Amino acid sequence: MVKYRDDVVGLDAAIMMNTKVWEASGHVDAFTDPLVECKICHSRFRADKEEEIKAHEKTHKEKVEWTEPKSFNLLVEAYLGVAEPKQKVYLRGEITQGAFVNFENVVNSTRVKIPFGIAQIGKAFRNEITPGNFTYRSREFEQMELEFFVEEKDADKWFKFWKSERLRWYESLGIKKENLRMRSHEKGELAHYAKAAEDIEYNAPFGWSEFEGVHNRGDWDLSRHKLTYKEEGKEFTPWVIETSGGVDRSTLFFLLDSYHEENGRVILKLHPKLAPYKAAVFPLLANKPELVEKAKGIYDSLKKDMMVAWDDRGNIGKRYFAQDEIGTPFCITVDFQTLEDNTVTVRNRDTAKQERLKIQELPDFLSKKLS
Ligand code: ATP
Repeated sequence: MVKYRDDVVGLDAAIMMNTKVWEASGHVDAFTDPLVECKICHSRFRADKEEEIKAHEKTHKEKVEWTEPKSFNLLVEAYLGVAEPKQKVYLRGEITQGAFVNFENVVNSTRVKIPFGIAQIGKAFRNEITPGNFTYRSREFEQMELEFFVEEKDADKWFKFWKSERLRWYESLGIKKENLRMRSHEKGELAHYAKAAEDIEYNAPFGWSEFEGVHNRGDWDLSRHKLTYKEEGKEFTPWVIETSGGVDRSTLFFLLDSYHEENGRVILKLHPKLAPYKAAVFPLLANKPELVEKAKGIYDSLKKDMMVAWDDRGNIGKRYFAQDEIGTPFCITVDFQTLEDNTVTVRNRDTAKQERLKIQELPDFLSKKLS
């Protein structure tokens, strides 16, 4: 989204932000969820999450009565400053606003011209009523977003472009096509800033679930922050097409689609780009110093460029299985033949097949597999 595109710049904006930002963005007034409380046990739920409400009702023998829905603001507050009263700030409820309040900084300090985007990744905080479903909903989570600034006349075109681009991105990293779908927001469901919105959903064990939103935010944000864009004699308020994804949610779904059980053991078939370790290096026997030394040399040289695991415990089969389980795509073993001809075996996680490569071919081999 950033490195390979000339029309997108990266940004790392602040987490604690002045309350005025969130007043202007509309979040102080409208960033709310409807909260209802079970009159029997006082558990609280989002009134719009029918499935969760039904599931809760089944946990009681008696008929459950609910309180009237109350609006509940999701912004998390903090207090800063050395003098009392301290100043209230909000922890960002979406990383998005950082891109808007830095809009002028970016335009003035880089050579971007419309259409262009500002992308970032970072923590966001929401006082969620019902965190849960593993890491699907938490109060502290990581977002990855693009705010793409366009002229109004081009907004629809870019909305379509980013929708298909984001689907392609998830598929290219291993989410199965049949587990993905786009769902368009109904009029009444649109967020306060949105002109159009489509969710990218995953077929999770707990039902189809949003993990990225592609939004046409119109000129809502920049006009609320009173920001314009000037180029060659014209001045206007750009429109914004946003792609807003959750790192935690997509990680959960990448894990689900990678998880395989074969003959009673687990293989995590993560795309090599997502695998925490790209390769593991083993000496065939831990008690042969010449093998250990040779393997350490390979390990030290590869780890300058990528995350590499080391293992010299137990037998080789167990080491393969342990790496399969955490998704390491390649295992490199130094054996007695290595000492004679400088070749090693490279075992592929998904096929369990081994091939023999020269040590000096390893960096090239791995970088091709990982690109
Ligand atoms: P939901 O309806 O599930 O609460 P949302 O529509 O409020 O989500 P957005 O405001 O569009 O979500 O946020 C963009 C993305 O940020 C979401 O698609 C999701 O991946 C991620 N996200 C939002 N809230 C959370 C959370 N509480 N925990 C983990 N990820 C989240």
